[in-house]
Amino acid sequence: MAFSFDTSYKELDAKLYSRVTPKDIDDPEILLFNEALCDDLGIDAEAVTGQVLSGQERLEEPIAQAYAGHQYGSFTVLGDGRAMILGEHVHDGNRSDIQLKGSGRTPYSGSGDGKATVSSMLREYLYSFAMHKLGIKTSRSLAVIETDESVKRRQTEPGAILVRVMNSHIRYGTFQYVASRAPDELEAFTEYVIDRHYPQLTDSDRKYVEFFDAVMRASVAMVVDWLRVGFIHGVMNTDNMSIDGETFDYGPCAFMNYYDEDAVFSSIDKHGRYAFGNQRKILQWNLERFAESLQPLCTDSSITFDEIEARLDDFDDIFEAEYYTMMRQKLGIPADGAEEIVDEFLDWLRSSGADYTNTFLELENPGTFEDPIYATAEFEEIREQVAQVGLDEDLMQQANPRYIPRNHLVEDALTQYVEDRDLSRFRALLDVLQHPYESNEATARFQQPPPEAFDAEYTTYCNT
Ligand code: AMP
Ligand code: MG
Repeated sequence: MAFSFDTSYKELDAKLYSRVTPKDIDDPEILLFNEALCDDLGIDAEAVTGQVLSGQERLEEPIAQAYAGHQYGSFTVLGDGRAMILGEHVHDGNRSDIQLKGSGRTPYSGSGDGKATVSSMLREYLYSFAMHKLGIKTSRSLAVIETDESVKRRQTEPGAILVRVMNSHIRYGTFQYVASRAPDELEAFTEYVIDRHYPQLTDSDRKYVEFFDAVMRASVAMVVDWLRVGFIHGVMNTDNMSIDGETFDYGPCAFMNYYDEDAVFSSIDKHGRYAFGNQRKILQWNLERFAESLQPLCTDSSITFDEIEARLDDFDDIFEAEYYTMMRQKLGIPADGAEEIVDEFLDWLRSSGADYTNTFLELENPGTFEDPIYATAEFEEIREQVAQVGLDEDLMQQANPRYIPRNHLVEDALTQYVEDRDLSRFRALLDVLQHPYESNEATARFQQPPPEAFDAEYTTYCNT
């Protein structure tokens, strides 16, 4: 059997979703298939044919979810404009949305065409794969299917569908939608989400406060993980913030090479709202919007909104504690404290603009890289300081990837497919990213950052 569906979302009020039909595709071609994920889902690989993965053969009627969101600060009513949930697959007690992205228009498409280019879906497949292997909670990609149509964006490309798997696609923005467009449903919806994602809270007498707190902590863990590996999400609108702390919507994302808190690559993020070093602040802002959507639940119950606001006031302390724990691990510092050393190290990173990923590897094993930055007296000095309290190899190895998807390698692999229909560089990159924490002498070239000029020009795009 392909999937084992039990789609609980359809039991919610009809204002929360629409029943939809994937577009017809004559000749769906499976370009990539994630066998490991197929195993994790307990699916019979033989049964998931191109017809199934492109939504041509269906077990039930797919849905598109309604949601809203603050996009670059402005509230907008949205919904899945080019995505459809085929169903909720249940395996070993775990529930996963099986979603098609790029499968045609929905009632929420507006003027959009409901399509996706093959390069953008390959890109999402690669980043979600890399993030999963980096140990970061993320959406996963089961397959990329190339369609028979052509899609016009900056250039014309074949269309594609990504089969995306998540615990759910419920976002902060889903709460914003329900609170503003279906307020009578807010309580039932919140109960549904708590049952689905935070069942341990079901019997709590401070359930909604605890729920807010749990979402905040899951989101903090997610963003701290991004900072650990140098990930820039690129479009942290509230509609792209998962209620379960899953990283998703790999659109204009990128990895930072040279340390720069202002690093931003997205073409439309002119003011750096979603820059690397702003992600913490934006998460806090997004959580404020999420909290507001829960406010109506606090009017007639024993819970007051002050209690949720008090949890929000803890954000700085929680984030700070998680951030320093993570940074200490990257520097191999086993004990608590040592904040000043972390801060001094960050000052050095800021002033040197060294490659973020490689610097930790060089700290661990001096002489790994030939970069003259590591031959300076300042680096020697900072290394000695860290060495006094840290540089525990075991700790460092778990926190510091050897390989990340370097921007120039990702682009090169995608270009090779678009121009030559050749996935060899893409597959080579996936191979290296399969074991990001294990050194592999043969793959040194995957560790080199691009020339600084590449990153200065590098631009990523939304709605591709
Ligand atoms: P994103 O920036 O990918 O999170 O997308 C923001 C919103 O735009 C979402 O509601 C998408 O469903 C919608 N959207 C993006 N691209 C398209 C498209 N080609 N057709 C229809 N809707 C789209
Ligand atoms: Mg989105």
